[in-house]
Amino acid sequence: MQKKAIIIGSGVAGLASAIRLSLSGFEITLFEKNNYPGGKLTGFKKGNYFFDAGPSLFTQPENIEELFNLANEPISNYLEYDAQAISCKYFYEDGSIINAYTNPQDFANELKTKLGEDASKVISYLKQSEKTYNNIGTIFLNYSLHKIATLFSAPILKALKAVKPGFLFGTLHQLNAKHFTNKKTVQLFDRYATFNGSNPYKAPGMLSLIPHLDNNIGTFYPKGGMISIANALYKLAVKLGVKFNFNCLVDKIITENNKVKGVSINQEIFYADVVVSNMDVYFTYKQLLKDDKKAKQILKQERSSSALIFYWGIKKSFPQLELHNIFFATDYKKEFDSLFNSKTIYNDPTVYVNITAKCEPGLHCPKGKENWFVMVNTPANTGQNWEVYQQQYKKNIITKLNKLLQTDIEPLIEVEEVLSPLTIESKTKSYMGSIYGTSSNGKLAAFYRHPNFSKAIKGLYFVGGSVHPGGGIPLCLQSAKITSKIIEEDFSIKI
Ligand SMILES: Cc1cc2nc3c(=O)[nH]c(=O)nc-3n(C[C@H](O)[C@H](O)[C@H](O)COP(=O)(O)OP(=O)(O)OC[C@H]3O[C@@H](n4cnc5c(N)ncnc54)[C@H](O)[C@@H]3O)c2cc1C
Repeated sequence: MQKKAIIIGSGVAGLASAIRLSLSGFEITLFEKNNYPGGKLTGFKKGNYFFDAGPSLFTQPENIEELFNLANEPISNYLEYDAQAISCKYFYEDGSIINAYTNPQDFANELKTKLGEDASKVISYLKQSEKTYNNIGTIFLNYSLHKIATLFSAPILKALKAVKPGFLFGTLHQLNAKHFTNKKTVQLFDRYATFNGSNPYKAPGMLSLIPHLDNNIGTFYPKGGMISIANALYKLAVKLGVKFNFNCLVDKIITENNKVKGVSINQEIFYADVVVSNMDVYFTYKQLLKDDKKAKQILKQERSSSALIFYWGIKKSFPQLELHNIFFATDYKKEFDSLFNSKTIYNDPTVYVNITAKCEPGLHCPKGKENWFVMVNTPANTGQNWEVYQQQYKKNIITKLNKLLQTDIEPLIEVEEVLSPLTIESKTKSYMGSIYGTSSNGKLAAFYRHPNFSKAIKGLYFVGGSVHPGGGIPLCLQSAKITSKIIEEDFSIKI
């Protein structure tokens, strides 16, 4: 008889798990509390403007392509995307502006011309980044770190041997400060710690593998905006026969003799051989398994940062801006101290502005206008007064943008919507509004992240940003791959 799997949540990892397990022969039922698929990867319209609500940076499309290849479906029928020439445009308080080209030599030349950085040092950094990614990153992204067989396998041992001590024992900031001469270059490369909500002054040098994705391989823009990724995965899952149930909040995972039996929704029970939770692992233990002890253990690892996002419909276009723009804080160290230590507001925050109208003028808002996604990193929610913070952050953001763009921004805002740590938590059940689950603020953070399976309950598995290998679309997609492989092994399924 066909084995049944239930998936809790249709975040990007839930959707990818549904696709993979369906191809492994499971009958899949997915329950989603919202009335749309995608979790954080969603969008909305306000007035004449469309906004991607969550993720805005798209790297490693091969993770998505792989799902379509497995299903034997041409991806072009579902999703199209273009490579970008500039991964991000950086603005500094002193007026310096850097285009981070996705061509490594162009990027190195830009840093030499604008900041006097030795171009060969930029190239050697990016080469090392590629090496680290190929040696270590691929192991981390493709295997469970919680299976003895993996830890002692030949590729892992080879990978660990290739790690330079500085990568394990130093922080990302220390590594960057040692390599580059200009503080602005150091700040630019420190920023990569924020790609999974971490602090460059605490996160390991190992995160220096991330620039390989941005600046060697390059970044992409999915046509129609980031929401097209969620729509494509949803369409593929439907085609494969996945049964979606929206507006369905799973309230319990049912177990018997340490084995999963199914889930319940409003006291109705749904049985399955396998349950995959795409819900934040803290809430999975706390709310669905009522296991306070285990939930508390999860919190031993620091949560990632959260964010405040202002979605602004701007009635003017800014030719000096790109798809991705960063307006850096003057004192980065102080900003991270306030994010992770004092957990308070910082008056000169780094501001990120994403504008999809740059790639498809006229699609997401009228021509001559721009849809601004304006984000600042904030501490994860520990009870701060977000109403007050929101007003203060808005003031600080506008002050910064007015200065660096030499324009009075506020009168140009004709539409506004806001997403806060509180609404991030309520919309997707992400504990403390953390956008990437747990942070990498520690040398062994990668090993402390929750495994993709339950050691205590047979048949229970976990995917998504709060478990191994971590947050961000590429990693969430990999969590689905790792988990599906474990399930196939557990059920002796041969593909
Ligand atoms: C503002 C913002 C910006 C970001 N920027 C980027 C970026 O540029 N690039 C990038 O790669 N990543 C980015 N991220 C991170 C990325 O969005 C996430 O890591 C990823 O989308 C998380 O996917 P997930 O599979 O963990 O599930 P989530 O998106 O967290 O979805 C979980 C789903 O499960 C559902 N659910 C939870 N509990 C239940 C239950 N009990 N019953 C039924 N359903 C339930 C929720 O409703 C939700 O739909 C950003 C995130 C945010 C919020």
